[in-house]
Amino acid sequence: MASRSAATFDALVVGAGPAGAHLAFLLAREGRRVAILDRQRFPREKVCGGGLSRKAVALLGCDVAPIVHQWLKGAFLTFGNRSTLVKDLARPAGCTVLRSEFDHLLLTQACDAGARLFEEAAFLDLRFRGDLVDVATSRGALSCRRVFAADGVASAVRTRLFGRHAVAYVPALEALVRVPAAARERFAERVVLDFGGMPRGYGWIFPKRDHLNVGVYSPFGGSALRRHLDRFMARYPALERRLGIEYRGFAIPLRNDAGAFERGPVALVGDAAGHAEAIGGEGNNVARASAALAARAAIEDERGAVPLRYTGLLREALLPELRAAWRLARLLFAFPEFSFRHVVSNDRVNALFAGVITGDVGYRECLRKVLLAAPRWLFRAPATPHDLPPLEPGVPG
Ligand SMILES: Cc1cc2nc3c(=O)[nH]c(=O)nc-3n(C[C@H](O)[C@H](O)[C@H](O)COP(=O)(O)OP(=O)(O)OC[C@H]3O[C@@H](n4cnc5c(N)ncnc54)[C@H](O)[C@@H]3O)c2cc1C
Repeated sequence: MASRSAATFDALVVGAGPAGAHLAFLLAREGRRVAILDRQRFPREKVCGGGLSRKAVALLGCDVAPIVHQWLKGAFLTFGNRSTLVKDLARPAGCTVLRSEFDHLLLTQACDAGARLFEEAAFLDLRFRGDLVDVATSRGALSCRRVFAADGVASAVRTRLFGRHAVAYVPALEALVRVPAAARERFAERVVLDFGGMPRGYGWIFPKRDHLNVGVYSPFGGSALRRHLDRFMARYPALERRLGIEYRGFAIPLRNDAGAFERGPVALVGDAAGHAEAIGGEGNNVARASAALAARAAIEDERGAVPLRYTGLLREALLPELRAAWRLARLLFAFPEFSFRHVVSNDRVNALFAGVITGDVGYRECLRKVLLAAPRWLFRAPATPHDLPPLEPGVPG
């Protein structure tokens, strides 16, 4: 990368995670001159459960099969590994992947479409110059007509333009647990979603080819995540028979309270924009959905003649869904044991949530129907969840 005579691109995408790679792919495919830079070298690790719902897979537009670790037929829905419902779907509910492989696949797709990749190049600063933006990176300068910030939850571009507090986020902690094959088999083909796994949140177990990804998250935030995660794992004898463990923590964005999504020729996408689904902390599909809207806005309004075009598309197509997800998350996790007994264990209601995972039901529709059905699920006796068997026998008290 030249540091004195900067190359000029139609678009510069900062960050090559799912949001950035997808956006670079969409713009390059339309013949735009696209540069994508990342401070890391790919393939690289990313803290993430690597769970892709069916709707996330459908959004991909490329064949994910070669990198799938496990196709999922459903979930074990449980409270503290005591009462457990098995919820299977007629078609795969989704799959698990390793983010190093998934992100590399998306980035390769972008580069094959013509995007030019700059690795180990960190965004440092930007400056507006007429119709252009000059971007300083750790490996030199670049000029472009538009900048897309896809540099994750702690986005340096967002901080530069909108300050430190535009996006609210919460911590999440995961552990990569290596267990003997027999113990892994116990969870194969289903994820565990444990509503007692973390106060006002949940714990997950996602099966991978050679390990289990186990984690905890609460949309209300929280502290002492390591203690909650260890306590959650101690409820599952299979996880106690482990051969190795690696803890990794990061943050999940919840909201962009400032409504700060773009300024002039700079737009924020994915985690950088504060986009994730608050119920499960699922962000890969949202990252690509916001990238698709940013690409559409850029292509439809090449000259930037319509102010806040991208923000308008977000308000139409994505933000109402994310807000509904946020409300549902608060409803579900404020009193998780009550929710598990009355809401999650209710077949009609959990069918709605299954629809959200497959993409057949939107969050707004789900919220509306859950609220409309409230008199039934609130006042009717729960579906005997305490008589349900534990997922794994031998649970400590
Ligand atoms: C513990 C945990 C578990 C999760 N589990 C799931 C899950 O199972 N399913 C799911 O869908 N989502 C999950 N998520 C959320 C998901 O990881 C994110 O929503 C998703 O990665 C967002 O994609 P992105 O492209 O916006 O950002 P990222 O994937 O974070 O990509 C940002 C990229 O920008 C680069 N970058 C950062 N700063 C700079 C800079 N200054 N200059 C250049 N490059 C930079 C980074 O190196 C990175 O490659 C989880 C998150 C956490 C924390």
